[in-house]
Amino acid sequence: MINLVIFGPPGAGKGTQSEKLIQKYGFVHISTGDLFRWHTKNDTPLGKRVKEIMNSGALVPDDITIAMLKEELDKNPQAKGFLFDGFPRTVAQAEALDRFMKENNTAIHYVVALDVSEKEVRDRIAKRRTIENRADDEEDKLNKRITEYFTKTIHVLPYYEKAGRLNTVNGIGPIDEIFARITSVIK
Ligand code: ADP
Repeated sequence: MINLVIFGPPGAGKGTQSEKLIQKYGFVHISTGDLFRWHTKNDTPLGKRVKEIMNSGALVPDDITIAMLKEELDKNPQAKGFLFDGFPRTVAQAEALDRFMKENNTAIHYVVALDVSEKEVRDRIAKRRTIENRADDEEDKLNKRITEYFTKTIHVLPYYEKAGRLNTVNGIGPIDEIFARITSVIK
């Protein structure tokens, strides 16, 4: 069993690389962003609780996020390996994840951090925005998401670095080249 966390700011290419990783390794993909979007779209009690928070671009509180993640793990007892995408985003989430892995006699083996600077992600998103011509209010939300990453989520990196699990991969370049950099980390 291999469990991997893919890490990086909004616009780093986590989604694109996750799809390729799933194809190659057969991971069960757990994206907390996708899960929250599913809940809000289906107007579940959880969706109702997080809708406003998500719309603001802020992080959902840890207790809610961790409980949802745990439920998702419990739904997949047969998984050969998990790919965590968008989780953990805080040190408390990273600690909870380690605890859950330990309870199942496994661990997070690799953390792949896509290294893309704040300036680069802002440029990429601005470019995407002119193509997709999105609404103005979306821009505040996006700014907030990028700021949340560079002020809060980035602190998860030293947590994994201390444990010797952090693999920083240059996130700039052609998709296949970045993918090759990622797979060279996985033994
Ligand atoms: P992005 O495209 O910015 O990486 P995601 O699709 O992963 O965003 O997540 C969308 C939103 O869902 C976040 O802005 C946040 O409100 C919420 N969210 C997702 N994952 C987490 C998490 N691990 N902790 C807290 N909030 C989260």
